[in-house]
Amino acid sequence: MRAKSVILPATEIPRQWYNILSDIKMNPPLGPDGKPIQPDALAPVFPMNLIEQEVSTQRWIDIPEPVLDVLSIWRPAPLTRADRFEKALGTPARIYFKYEGCSPPGSHKPNTAVAQVYYNKVFGIKNMTTETGAGQWGSALAFACAQFGMNCKVYMVRISFDQKPYRKAMMETWGGTCVASPSTQTQAGRDALARDPETPGSLGIAISEAIEEAVGDTTGQTRYSLGSVLNHVMLHQTIIGLEAKKQLAMINEYPDIIIGCAGGGSNFAGLAFPFVQDKINGKQIEIYPVEPKACPSLTRAPFVYDHGDTARYTPLLPMHSLGHAFVPAPIHAGGLRYHGMAPTVSQLANEGLITPKSVFQTEAFQAGLLWARTEGVIPAPETTNALALVVQEALKAKEEGKEKVIVFNFTGHGLLDLAGYEKFMAGKIMDFALSDEDMAKSMSVFADFPKPQDLKSF
Ligand SMILES: *Cc1c(COP(=O)(O)O)cnc(C)c1O
Repeated sequence: MRAKSVILPATEIPRQWYNILSDIKMNPPLGPDGKPIQPDALAPVFPMNLIEQEVSTQRWIDIPEPVLDVLSIWRPAPLTRADRFEKALGTPARIYFKYEGCSPPGSHKPNTAVAQVYYNKVFGIKNMTTETGAGQWGSALAFACAQFGMNCKVYMVRISFDQKPYRKAMMETWGGTCVASPSTQTQAGRDALARDPETPGSLGIAISEAIEEAVGDTTGQTRYSLGSVLNHVMLHQTIIGLEAKKQLAMINEYPDIIIGCAGGGSNFAGLAFPFVQDKINGKQIEIYPVEPKACPSLTRAPFVYDHGDTARYTPLLPMHSLGHAFVPAPIHAGGLRYHGMAPTVSQLANEGLITPKSVFQTEAFQAGLLWARTEGVIPAPETTNALALVVQEALKAKEEGKEKVIVFNFTGHGLLDLAGYEKFMAGKIMDFALSDEDMAKSMSVFADFPKPQDLKSF
C-alpha cells in the first residue's frame, strides 16, 4: 500500500526560519509625523527582541530550542496526498496539502503564538494581551501562554463571544482570560459602550482595548501580540513551507502551483515564501493567494499607506487596503475579514511574483463539502477559500490533460464552525460581492496619507 502522508522525521524539523526581507525591497512603516517610524516608538507595545526581528534583513534566523520543543507537540506536520479528492474531480493533477489542523488549537496560528510568547518571556514580560475575532488567534495565544507560564488576556469581539462560546471555553481551559469587547475594563471599551451600549463590537475596538491594556501597565510587564500581518509573524510561519519542501523532495515532487487562503497573509506566506525564494532564483512556479470576493484587498484595492487597525493605533503600513474602517460582509470565514494585507505579501503581488485570486463564499463551502465527503476532515471556512481555487486549477488541468502538482495549505479544521456548514446545507449561505461605490467610500479614509513608492526588487 502506498503511504498517503509524507512524514518528516522529527530530526529533520527545520531549525531556521526564512526571512523574505533579505530578498525584497520594502517601503518603511510611517509614524504619525509621516516619517519612517523608529523601532523605539513600538517598545511599549512589543518587546524589543521581536521589534528587532520585525526589521531584520538576515536571510536565515535560528528557531530557539524552547520554541522547537513546544512545536514538536504537533510538528513536523504531515504533507498528505488528496487522492480521493483528485478522484472525485477526475483530475490528472496531483494534489498535496500541508495539514495545520493538527495543532492543539486546530490551526496554523500557534506557529507564531509559541514563538511570540517565548520572545516576550525571555524579555521579562509576564502578561500578554490580544484581540480575537472568530477566536482562532485568541485560543492559539492562550495555548502558547500555558506552555510558557504566562498570563493571557483576550478581548473577543462581542458578537463572536456570544456566537462561539466554545472558543472562549478553550482559552479558559488553557488558563487564559477572555472578555467580550467592548468591555468596561478600558477607556476605549467604555467609550464604545457609551456611544452604543448594544454594539456587536469590532476587531478595531478589540485591538484598541488590548493595546491600551498593554501600554497602560506601568510596571512594564505587559505586551500586546498580533496574529498576522507583521513581518515577524510571516517569518514564524515559514516553517510550514520549509517542511513542505523537504517532504516533497522525499517523494521527488516539486509544485507547479502553490495555493493558500489570505486574510492578513500569514498562512499563505508561511507555505509560499520558501517557494517564492525559488522563484526569485529562476524556478517556474505559480503562486496564488486566495481571498473572499466580499473582502478583496489584494485583488481589487490599491497599494497605499494605511493603518492596520480601525482605531489608527498602528503605524501606517504599505499594503493593499480597503480602508481601515472597512466593515466586510458577515461571511463565515471570519479569519479572512481583514481590511488590509501583510506588507510583504502586498509587495510580492506588486512585483508579479504571486498572483492574487478571489472566490465566492458558496463556491468555497461547496468545495469544503466535497472535501469532507472524500478526504474526511471538515475544513475551517477560511481553508475552503483555498480549496475553491484548488478545484478550479484541478479542473483546468483536467481540461488541458496536464499532470500538474498542486500544493495548498490546509489551515485548520472546522469542528467549531459547523453552524456555517449547517446554514450552507440549508441553502442559507449568500454570496456578497463588493460594489465599486462601497469600495470607493471605504477607501476615502487614506486619500490624504503619504503614498508608498513603486519599488522594484529585481
Ligand atoms: C486566521 C486564519 C486564517 C487567515 O489568517 P492568515 O493570517 O491570512 O493566515 C486562515 N485559516 C484559519 C483556519 C485561520 O484561523
